[in-house]
This record gives sequence, structure tokens and C-alpha cells, in this order.
Amino acid sequence: MQNTLKAPVTFDGTGLHSGAPARMTLRPAPSNHGIVFKRTDISLGNREIPALWHYVERSPLCTRLVNAAGVSVSTVEHIMAAIAGCGVHNVLVEIDGPEVPILDGSSAEFVRGIMRQGVRRLADSVRALRVMKPVTVENGDARATLLPCDRLKIEFHIDFAERAIGRQTRTLDMRNGAFARELCDSRTFCSRADVEAMHKAGLALGGIPGENAVVFDGAEVQSGGGLRHTDEPVRHKMLDALGDLALAGAPLFGHYIGDRAGHSLTNTLLRAAFDTPGALEEVRCDNVMIARLPGQGLVWDEIPAVRHVA
Ligand SMILES: [Zn+2]
Repeated sequence: MQNTLKAPVTFDGTGLHSGAPARMTLRPAPSNHGIVFKRTDISLGNREIPALWHYVERSPLCTRLVNAAGVSVSTVEHIMAAIAGCGVHNVLVEIDGPEVPILDGSSAEFVRGIMRQGVRRLADSVRALRVMKPVTVENGDARATLLPCDRLKIEFHIDFAERAIGRQTRTLDMRNGAFARELCDSRTFCSRADVEAMHKAGLALGGIPGENAVVFDGAEVQSGGGLRHTDEPVRHKMLDALGDLALAGAPLFGHYIGDRAGHSLTNTLLRAAFDTPGALEEVRCDNVMIARLPGQGLVWDEIPAVRHVA
């Protein structure tokens, strides 16, 4: 059956790009509500923004949702990954500004907050989307693909000039709380040159190297105590992919392959999948299918404590 949170949970922090303080509260919501953001700092007009692929405004650095009234919320990918990775279907996300707090740059604190409250079962069955035929999109040397699969599998390949990143590859079957165990604590990252370019463009104003982002400079790593995994960057790209795929509006049964992909290309992939006749099929999950969804079987002890490997 569908579920929601047992009780509200609040996160306080700073927006990565705006640098503005942000308070965000996840509230329980009824069946078939889905994930919806609500701007509490705006009092007039439509201030709700559904977390769906067609509300995404193209933005290379983060995922930004905008409703018809022009009301937006940015950097939704890490909270969306936490909600999807914990297998929660219905949440109202109240936020008092235009950007989700970045916290430590990962989804770990969101996962702990959701798990601390726990979930409550609702009366309706879970609606999911099954990938029925391959869909691929490309942009330059970046590519993103969805293939049919009886569970959600995320595969990612990256290749960065920074020697401390280089080539990294990982594939993960997202069943059984794998997201919380293997991906949720991996932090956002960039190169020193990116930081300078973003600051010039008035972005990443809330970024603190080593505190809420890992910064790579050639062979050097600024990461506040070291990396949390030797391949933390590719794990973070998988986390982002889960968050961006969650904008399908329902859990996906499919194999996602990202090759140097980013937020914008994953959104292009979702648009292509919804635009391709017969590529996605809506299904109501039986018990066997539910057991394969991310978050099923997740237990508190599997959520990683913050630790460093290097
Ligand atoms: Zn990210």
C-alpha cells in the first residue's frame, strides 16, 4: 500500500546557491497526493509546486521546479532522492524560501529524519511506472538511457579531468534500502575551477568547501576529514539520478544508465520516456512488486554514520 510519514520532520540549513537560510518541513499527506512543495513565505496565489518532471526548468547545476505562477523551488534533488530511497509516496514539503537547505551536501540527514519519524500505511495501492522499451538521450559526450528491468537499477559512469576523480563506474540494485546503505551519505562535489566560475555567476554562495561540498583541485581533495567513499563522486551522481528520476511521479521499474549525465539530461530522458508511445506502462503494485521497491526492508541500523575512508 501507499504510505506517508507518521509525523512532520523539519530541517534547518542554508541554500547552496542562494546562501539564504532555509527551513523545510516534511508533512504527512493522503493517498495519491504525491510529493508537492509549498512555499510558505508566499501568501498570495498558487504557491504549491508538484515534484513532477514537467515542472522542471532547465538548469545545469541543480534541479529547479517552477509552477505556472512562476513560483519556484531549487536544488530539490537530494530531498527527492531521500524520499524515493526511503520508499515514501506522499509528502507535503513546506519551505520558507526558494531553495532546499543543502545540509552536508548529501541526503544522509534527510534519510535519518524520515526514518526517525517512520512511515504510516495508507489505504490505496502503490502506482508505479514500468519501462517497456529502451529510451536514450544524448548531449555531446553525455548519454542517459532507460531499459526495461523488473526493479530499479541505477548505473553510472563518470570521467573527470581532476586526477582525484578520474573514471568511476558503479551499478546498484535499489532494492532493500540499498540507497540508504550505499549512496545517501555521498556529498555533492565540484572542481576548484567550477567554484570560481559559480562565484563569478553569483552561484554557490552558500557553498563551504569540505562542509557541504567536496572540492577537487587536480590531485587534491578539500573534503573536511577526507572522502566518505573512495568513489564518493560517482555515488553522488547516482544519488542525484535517483532524485531526478523520482520526478516521474511514481516509483520506476527500469535500468537507468547515466554516462557523464547530469540533472538536465536525466530530465530530458524522462521527457523522452513520457513522449515515446509505449515506453512507460502504469501498473498497480502487487506484493511481489512492492518488495522490489527502494526503501522496502530499510532498517535504522543500516543508515550509515558519518565516516571517512581517506
Ligand atoms: Zn547532487
